[in-house]
Amino acid sequence: MIGFIDTHAHLNLPEFDPDREEVINRAKDSGINYILVPGIDLPSSRTAVELAERFPILHAAVGIHPHEAKRFRERDLLKLKEFAQRPQVKAIGEIGLDFYRKLSSPQEQVVAFRAQIRLAKELDLPIVVHSRGAVEETLRILKDESRGLRGVLHCFEGTKEQAERVLALGLYISFTGQVTFPRSKVLEVAKLIPLGKLLLETDSPYLAPLPQRGKRNEPAWVRLVAQGVASAKGMDLEALANLTSQAADRLFGFSEMETQ
Ligand SMILES: [Zn+2]
Ligand SMILES: [Zn+2]
Repeated sequence: MIGFIDTHAHLNLPEFDPDREEVINRAKDSGINYILVPGIDLPSSRTAVELAERFPILHAAVGIHPHEAKRFRERDLLKLKEFAQRPQVKAIGEIGLDFYRKLSSPQEQVVAFRAQIRLAKELDLPIVVHSRGAVEETLRILKDESRGLRGVLHCFEGTKEQAERVLALGLYISFTGQVTFPRSKVLEVAKLIPLGKLLLETDSPYLAPLPQRGKRNEPAWVRLVAQGVASAKGMDLEALANLTSQAADRLFGFSEMETQ
């Protein structure tokens, strides 16, 4: 069976409370080998870690989302650091800037973003970056902090030129079900990303790919995202699944625990 990795699925959110285990079983049945569950604040980061300890297919990222940046305090870094001691924690995220919804002020977002980037570097963990309506500002900070930095820009919405600058920083780029939407601009960008740097994600419960658009998204549907990218690149699904899985594993080290 072809194997996939969903590098971004919020299975820690209440949307999955009624049937989380079934969602995870469907993912397994669809050939998903690993799922990274990001935090958006301290409680959801804790839940991500707890779920990853319970279900071996799940791994966690811990972090404060830009929407929550207004509540960010220095002491939260200690809590994140404590979570990150668990072997199931593979990244700091999701962190970043969202100037589209601006649920926190840009200044608050920048402070939380930079502090968590530095934490990731201190812990030698990759970052999962959320950037909406703020690609230039995000790039500026990432460039500033690029020394020793590893990570991915998730749900990428930038241009080809911006993608090239992300790649020049040694970072990965990840795409959601948006690649399956009609006249998708991000699909045009995805086409050009070298496969060693391209990751797949669902961003569940959001952004369900066609033909499931509008429904609650789930990791099993990362296959549809993969199909969208594979057909745009003119390659077969298995090769794409292999290369994107290798890239995700290189960045996050999902398979490390098993070989220890
Ligand atoms: Zn995001
Ligand atoms: Zn997310």
